[in-house]
Parts: sequence; C-alpha cells; structure tokens
Amino acid sequence: MGGTFDPIHFGHLVTAQEALVQFNLDRVLFMPTGHPALKLDERVTPAEDRYLMTVVATASNPDFDVSRLEVDRQGLTFTVDTLLALRDEYGPSAELFFITGADAVWDIVGWKDAEKVAGLATFIAATRPGYDLQAAKAAHEEAATSFRIEYIEVPALAISSTDLRARVAARRSIRYLAPEAVAAYVEKRGLYREVG
Ligand code: ATP
Ligand code: MG
Repeated sequence: MGGTFDPIHFGHLVTAQEALVQFNLDRVLFMPTGHPALKLDERVTPAEDRYLMTVVATASNPDFDVSRLEVDRQGLTFTVDTLLALRDEYGPSAELFFITGADAVWDIVGWKDAEKVAGLATFIAATRPGYDLQAAKAAHEEAATSFRIEYIEVPALAISSTDLRARVAARRSIRYLAPEAVAAYVEKRGLYREVG
C-alpha cells in the first residue's frame, strides 16, 4: 500500500486490514513515498517523519510491515521501479497487490510505464459505501487497459490526511481518526501547525 501518509490515518489502516482479510494476503507492506513524483508542488513533511508515523501506527499488527525502499531512494519515485524491486526481493512466484483508493486507480493509467505496472500487480481499489461500482467497472472495460482491478468497500473512506492536517493547524483533535501514537508524534514534532 503506497501513500504519502502525511499523516497515516484509520482510513489507510482499515483499508489495509480489509484487503488482507478479503484477499487472504500474507501481509501488507506500507510504502511511504520518498520525494513524491505527483505531489511536487505541495509541501510534504520530511520522509523520515512520515515513515516513523507509519511505523508507530502499524507496530501492533504482526501482518503489517513498513518499507524504507522509497524513503531511501534518491530523486523521483516511480511505482514501476518499486514494483520491480519488490518482484526482485520476493521472487517470481510472489503475487503482488497494489492497494489504493478507487479514484486514484484512474490516475494510474497516466503513470509512467502504466502498462508495465499493470503487468506487475493486481490493484485493490478501496471504494466508499454507495460508490457506483458498476459505472467504474464499465468505464474500466471501455478503457480496455490490461489493469486487473478488484474493488473493496471501506466505510472509513471519508477520512483524509488533508483534513487531519487542517485539524491540527486549527488546534482541533485528530483523536479517533488516527492512532493515538500518531497524534502523539505529530504533537511531539510540532507537525502541521501552519496551514499547508
Ligand atoms: P491527502 O489528503 O494528503 O491526499 P490521503 O488521506 O489521500 O492524503 P494518501 O497518503 O494520499 O492519503 O493516500 C494513500 C493511499 O490511501 C491512496 O491510494 C489513497 O487513495 C488511499 N486512501 C486515502 N484515504 C483513504 C481512506 N480514508 N480510506 C481508504 N483509502 C484511502
Ligand atoms: Mg490522497
């Protein structure tokens, strides 16, 4: 599961857990972005802070791991390179899934090496209750790409990092939206105090 995780929240965590259970995955690897290629203009918290928040958020779950792969990579990060590195690490028999929000799936078609990405992983797209799955599937068929996309429904989809940052900047609580350890880390490091 790739993301900026700026900060990680219960929407991410419950999505990962649902994917794990519904697709009988061995584990979920959280992959915080390094220098995010698609978020160049935005102010993004240092990768090390986002990595550490992801670690503390997932620490109690034995099926969750966090990778430093993109955090440690210099320069721009492209998903195709990450998937190739994971393919190398886990071998050709490992089946890779890429967990993402349903809306984000449609950006991926425009990614660098989209067709290569499609061949490396099956996509698990998180949708919110009431999301028009039939329309999404029809659009996908019409686009006739080689992407394999599975959909899962996630009730917590309305939570976003953007909203959490705004809450912190307004001195409002992020309790019950992100793990306590993440809230404590944000407080300790003084993150998101200025409106971004
Ligand atoms: P931002 O508001 O800064 O864009 P975000 O909350 O969307 O942050 P990201 O780190 O951008 O978080 O998202 C990482 C991945 O998790 C993306 O694939 C995104 O679609 C997905 N995602 C984000 N929020 C949720 C949520 N509440 N439920 C399920 N998936 C989510
Ligand atoms: Mg987002």
